[in-house]
Amino acid sequence: MELKKISGVGPKVYNILLEKGITDVKSLLYTFPSKYSIYKLTGFLYEGTMNARATVIDEPQMRKLSKNTIITFNTIIDDLSYKVSVFNMVYLSKTLHIGSEIVIIGEYNKDYKEINASKIVNLKDFKEGIFPEYNIEGIANANFNKIVNNAIEYYEKKDELIPSSYYQKYGYKTGKELLKDIHNPKSEEDIKNSINALKYYELLSFSIKLELMRLKQTELKKEPKKYDLEKIKSFIYLGIHFELTDDQKKAVNDICKYLSSNIPMNMLLEGDVGSGKTIIALISAYAVKTASYQSLIMVPTEALAAQHYKTFTSYLSDFDTKVALLTSSTKIKERREILESLKKGDIDIIIGTHSLISDEVVFKNLGFVVCDEQHKFGVEQRKKIREKGNNPDCLYMTATPIPRTLALTFFNDMVLEQIRTIPSSRKSVKTFAHTYKDYLKVLDFVKSEISDGRQAYFVASCIEDDQESSYVSVIKMRDDLLKYYGNDIRIGLLHGKLTQEEKNKVLNDFMEGGIDILASTTVIEVGIDNPNASVMVIIDANKFGLSTLHQLRGRVGRGSFEGYSFLMVDNKESLERIKILEETQDGFLISEQDLRDRGPGDFLGTEQSGMLKFDYANIFRDVNILNNAKKDAKELINIENIKEFYDKKLISDNFD
Ligand code: ADP
Ligand code: MG
Repeated sequence: MELKKISGVGPKVYNILLEKGITDVKSLLYTFPSKYSIYKLTGFLYEGTMNARATVIDEPQMRKLSKNTIITFNTIIDDLSYKVSVFNMVYLSKTLHIGSEIVIIGEYNKDYKEINASKIVNLKDFKEGIFPEYNIEGIANANFNKIVNNAIEYYEKKDELIPSSYYQKYGYKTGKELLKDIHNPKSEEDIKNSINALKYYELLSFSIKLELMRLKQTELKKEPKKYDLEKIKSFIYLGIHFELTDDQKKAVNDICKYLSSNIPMNMLLEGDVGSGKTIIALISAYAVKTASYQSLIMVPTEALAAQHYKTFTSYLSDFDTKVALLTSSTKIKERREILESLKKGDIDIIIGTHSLISDEVVFKNLGFVVCDEQHKFGVEQRKKIREKGNNPDCLYMTATPIPRTLALTFFNDMVLEQIRTIPSSRKSVKTFAHTYKDYLKVLDFVKSEISDGRQAYFVASCIEDDQESSYVSVIKMRDDLLKYYGNDIRIGLLHGKLTQEEKNKVLNDFMEGGIDILASTTVIEVGIDNPNASVMVIIDANKFGLSTLHQLRGRVGRGSFEGYSFLMVDNKESLERIKILEETQDGFLISEQDLRDRGPGDFLGTEQSGMLKFDYANIFRDVNILNNAKKDAKELINIENIKEFYDKKLISDNFD
């Protein structure tokens, strides 16, 4: 049936629909109400939304308060009198008078002891019922609803992909019945049920995609890597000056198992800051080298690349392993040489930044890919890197412990490996949350640490001052520090707008002790390892997620000195929120709270977390529905047309 022919769709309405992207009957039927207004006389309610019948008992007063117009008056509801206030409905002043019989829709404000009305209707116009609201400019809600109902009879069953039996299992309606409920619910129960059905559908589609990804992963094949176990053992005994923790040993063992299997590894290695992930990547890359394959280590910043390069060469130079560094600051001539040797197979391990993604970077036989701080990379970037080898084994590392709920869902196609123990050489970081009235005390503490030979980080949330926000910029913070400390203390400045050369210079100065304080933005969040730094001061700590704060404080207490972190905030509520950091060092616990407070963005990056945005469902609140959907997805992908449909979707959605 053509949209134009639906009764109620004249030329004017038709054009509005087209503008809204509603081009056929199906898209019309699937334009769901954005909310429902429920009108039902309830009498006065102390809590929740009331629909109360009332009589006005004095002349309404109108007053202006900045941009708002407020009308107030007194009423009688169920024989008691209440004050009522209503915002920005000037027209009411004409119709409301002493004696008017009305229905007030609104909530009782206990603090002000008055009813805040969101709507006031004349009693004779009030109709009980549930009214869908579509928010389509130019078409009244009731009209749009009428048009939809005219179209419902042309609904075609062939548009349904998921067999109805799946919905029925959970008592959800399907097809035409479900559409009728969505557009014309008879009760709140109907609304709840139909929204649950929609949530189920969203989560089912999502789970099917994830399940397909997982299947694809297990269908891939590769040559098993024949590493030399004796060489690996002797490297671990002779080349590493500390004993691996149990979790590190387990991770290395598990990785080796995957290396020698014929299915490519796809592993997410989660470990708190300082839990020692680098050495795991390093041992694994060495194992891969003994099997005559090359490895690639990709990291998000040049500083981290340089640091890893130093670590890898110092550990591996006596073990017949050639390591190279490639970043955007690598000189042209050197770059050419590196690319040449890489292609010939003379380089065993290449470490670098995004520059490694370039098509010019070609391997002889890339067998192992490591992405450090995986959420800093996009789906496409990781895919491009993988495609440089023939189904290489992949290790994704992250220092932001990913909450279990999120990991089980989003990383369902990966093996999860967690390091929960911190090497005993690491100190826990004593953490204090303060308001700014204590800032001078903090500054004096930092001064005393510096006179003991230590160094400090000061972190601000933005680079430049911004009139819109009250956050302190890194520049202003640095200037204040200079003013306070004078010439006694050397302060360096680091942020994302410096050139790579400038950044490298400041970082080097800091690592070598030429600078006492590094005033920085969060560019230092990932991986900077200066064992002499003992204090981390974070300005406007309330601007950051808990996991980020936890990451940041992990920059100190890395050597033999006690680490201290001061989190500065400007109000009591923020103190409450970040208190957990004073109390625990358990990154997993912290991340669970962070997920509740701030959603998945901090863990997945914007691109990945975008995939978790649903119109109805919330994977953290609708856990039961999600679990049902996950279970059903496993069955449904065996149905040919469903598999085919979502296979195509995988490609068009750019899902990894
Ligand atoms: P992250 O997991 O944050 O990347 P790193 O790999 O940078 O942590 O390790 C932090 C520090 O801990 C490094 O200096 C590393 O040498 C050290 N380290 C790693 N494992 C151990 C261990 N088992 N015992 C002692 N020190 C270790
Ligand atoms: Mg690291």
